[in-house]
Amino acid sequence: MYRIAVLSYHTSPLAPLGGAETGGLNVYVLELASELAERGHTVDVFTRRTDPAQAEIVHIGEGAPGTRIIHIDAGPARYLEKRALDAHLDAFEAGVAGFAERESLSYDVVHSHYWLSGVAGAKLKVRWGVPHVAMFHTLGEVKARARVSEREPEPRLAAERMIAQDADKIVVASRDEQQLLVRHYDADPDRIAVVPCGVNLGMFQPVDKDEARQQLGLGDDDQILLFVGRIEPLKGVDILLGAAAQMEGQSDCFVLVIGGDSDARTGEMAHLRDLAEELGIAERVSFLGAVDHERLPLFYSAADVCVVPSFYESFGLVALEAMACGTPVVASRVGGLTVAVRDGETGYLIPWRCPEPFAERLELLLGNDELRRAFGQAAREEVERFRWSNVAEAVLGIYGEVIDGTPARTTAVFRN
Ligand code: UDP
Repeated sequence: MYRIAVLSYHTSPLAPLGGAETGGLNVYVLELASELAERGHTVDVFTRRTDPAQAEIVHIGEGAPGTRIIHIDAGPARYLEKRALDAHLDAFEAGVAGFAERESLSYDVVHSHYWLSGVAGAKLKVRWGVPHVAMFHTLGEVKARARVSEREPEPRLAAERMIAQDADKIVVASRDEQQLLVRHYDADPDRIAVVPCGVNLGMFQPVDKDEARQQLGLGDDDQILLFVGRIEPLKGVDILLGAAAQMEGQSDCFVLVIGGDSDARTGEMAHLRDLAEELGIAERVSFLGAVDHERLPLFYSAADVCVVPSFYESFGLVALEAMACGTPVVASRVGGLTVAVRDGETGYLIPWRCPEPFAERLELLLGNDELRRAFGQAAREEVERFRWSNVAEAVLGIYGEVIDGTPARTTAVFRN
C-alpha cells in the first residue's frame, strides 16, 4: 500500500466547482483520491489555506485510512489570484515538509497538479528522496499558442520546462499533450504516461429528457445547446454564441451557459453578455452561473447537444459527463477532446476555432432526432471505458513504476 502526498496548491479539492479556478483539476484530484483510498492507499492532499476558519485536517470519503485534505499556511489566508501565488510557494513547500515531520510521516511518492504544485513537488522530491509524478493540466506554451491573448508569464514557462525535465513521470490525458510536451518542452517521451481522464458513471447517468426539462423548468419543444465550464476566453464560449446566432431557422434554439459568476459585471462574463446582445440573441442565451456538480446530470440530460468549443483543452471532463448522460457533444478538435469524442459517432470534432463549422454541425444534429438519439446512445456506451477505476489502476501502475521499478502494464481500455 502506498502513502501518497498529493499537491494541489492553488485550488482546493473542497472548493465549489465552476469558479474561475475550480474545474476539472479539482474533480480529478478528488475522484482519483477516493479510488486510491478505496484500494487501501493513504492519500494526503495538501492545499493552501484560503480561510482562517479552515481546519488543518479535513477527512473526506469513507473508511480508514482514507483521504485527508491538509490546509497549509502559505501567504494570507484568503483567496489570492494565481499570479500572486508563486511568492508563497516556498512557504507552502516548507509547510508540507513541516507537517510530515511533525506527524512523523514518510511518503512513497509526490503527485503534483499544475505547474505551481510541480515546483513544490520538485523540491519535495529532493527533500524526501522520493519520486515525483507531475500533471500540468494546462501548459503555458500551449495556451499562448492556442489563443493570442493568452501570453503566460516567463516564470511559469521556465518552471514548466524545469518540471518537464525533472519529474520522474509526467501524466498527460492524451497523446496530443504528450507530443506538445516533447515539442515545446523537450520532454523525454519515455517519461510521459498517457492516462485519459475519467467520469463518475454513478453520478452521471441519463435522466429522461422530458422529466429533466420539467424539473429545470425548460420547455419541452425547445432546442437546447449547453455549455458547462469555467468562464474564460480559452473555453471559446464566444464561438458557441456566434454559432447560435448564425444558425438559420433556430428561433427556438436556446443556449444555456453554466459556470462562473453570472452577476459579474466585468471580465469574460460581461464580455459574453455584451456579445449576446450584439449578436441579437440575448433573449435566447441564459447565463446560469455555477451549478452544483451533482445537479449537472439534469442539465446534460435536458440538453440536445453539449458544446465544448475550447481553444485548448487538456482533457475536457465536461465532454465525458455529457456523454455519460447520453448527450452528443460537438467539440473543438483539440487535446483530450479528440480522445473523448468520436467524430461522426458520439458527436462531432471541429478543426476550426470559428462559429461557422460549429453552426453547420449543430444544425445537422438539431435537425435530426434520430441521429441525435443514435449519437447519444453511442456516447453512453463509449464512456464506459473512462470510469475512474480505470484511471486509478493506470495511475497505480505509474506509481509502481517510479517507486519500485515495476513496469506499468498498458491498460487496454485506454488505448486510443
Ligand atoms: N463544473 C461544475 N459546475 C459548474 C461548472 C463546472 O461542477 O458550474 C465541473 C464540471 O462538471 C467538470 C469540471 O467542473 O467536472 C470542469 O472540467 P473540465 O475538464 O471540462 O474543464 P477544466 O476546468 O479542467 O478546464
